[in-house]
Amino acid sequence: MLSRRKLLKRFSGLPLVGGFVAGSGLPNQAAAEDEEETKVARDYFGELGVRPIINAAGAYTTMTASLMPEEVLDAHRQTAGEYVSLNGLHDAVGKKIAELVGCEAAMVTAGAASAMTLATAGVLTGLDEDKAKRIPVDLRGMRNEVIVQKSHVVGYTHAIINCGVKLVVVESERELIKAINRKTAMLYSTDAHNLDGAVQHERFVEIGKEYGIPTFNDAAAGIPPRENLWKFTKMGYDLVAISGGKAIRGPQSAGLLLGKKDLVAAARFNGPPTSDRIGRGMKVNKEEMVAMWIAVERFLEIDYEKEYESWKMQIDWLKDQFASIDGLNTESVIPQSPNTVPTLVLTFEKGAFSKSGFEVNKALLDGDPAVAVARPREDGFNVTTWMLQPERLGTVALRVKEELLKAKV
Ligand SMILES: *Cc1c(COP(=O)(O)O)cnc(C)c1O
Repeated sequence: MLSRRKLLKRFSGLPLVGGFVAGSGLPNQAAAEDEEETKVARDYFGELGVRPIINAAGAYTTMTASLMPEEVLDAHRQTAGEYVSLNGLHDAVGKKIAELVGCEAAMVTAGAASAMTLATAGVLTGLDEDKAKRIPVDLRGMRNEVIVQKSHVVGYTHAIINCGVKLVVVESERELIKAINRKTAMLYSTDAHNLDGAVQHERFVEIGKEYGIPTFNDAAAGIPPRENLWKFTKMGYDLVAISGGKAIRGPQSAGLLLGKKDLVAAARFNGPPTSDRIGRGMKVNKEEMVAMWIAVERFLEIDYEKEYESWKMQIDWLKDQFASIDGLNTESVIPQSPNTVPTLVLTFEKGAFSKSGFEVNKALLDGDPAVAVARPREDGFNVTTWMLQPERLGTVALRVKEELLKAKV
């Protein structure tokens, strides 16, 4: 009997690939079907009318952020065929990840934002079932304030107020300390804005310890550098959130919560699979859990310096490709934080281009193939290659150059 896949293919009018007996030039149906089964991938995006994007922008959730490496895909695929105890698996995977990154405890969450909600919930409820059932609507008997420095308030802090707590926004160290009271549940910080606040990592952690309040660091986009996987828990942060599907290239719908054993346990208590919990909708199944573990393992094993160096070479090569364009300034930089990866900053000189960076960005996205660049602005945009399939580098050079030349006055 024909498989559904073969049937669909037969009627899709797609040409068979590799369906010829070598040398004879004659079609061989049996060989064709075998090959078809193993080699010809069904074009899911094509069938859906969705165009793939060549990603010269970076790890952006809106375009699915990163690509899982083979080892991670294997783990995902191979674990899909058996049932296991989800909680038992989570215990085991959490233990492995905690060992790998050298922290007390770890759990796989449905992304870093999920880690933020679950961690906050855990801090409020501990292992108290009645409390866990009442958040976010009834916080009686719980601390209900989370202190954050103004420069650290970003869209993602919504993940914290999901728990029904109030954000207490402060600016100076004096204000921070003055804001601590019996209602303070947690001190929250965003790694990407560490340098923007009056109180920075070490001091922030110190204040938390002094007053006995758990400290949290959202380091979702804090990697690379790789050592940030252990730096913040070692520094003394009680809880750290990291995105699984950005630099680590785990499943896009996964993340990590790292930290103190009791706090991670309390976060898990508020998550799936228990139904009457704030985090029940933040489900992570076995494939993502195992794939996340393997992604971390791989990330720690690869020669990251070499990978980093290859991005640097790609950026320098791209810079050369655009060097001849009049009125275009090209600069190869490594931003401080976040996304500390080799980046090409393209800046239009005044009056040299008829289009804005926004318009060139749109032309690239609307073009064929679609190419995405980063941080479009009035007078330019950026290019990175750390999330780009290396074989697409030439296309990026070609398309970006084409659109830049079209936009020249
Ligand atoms: C990406 C990001 C998040 C969310 O991470 P997910 O894994 O997509 O949930 C949170 N905070 C910051 C600063 C981020 O960059």
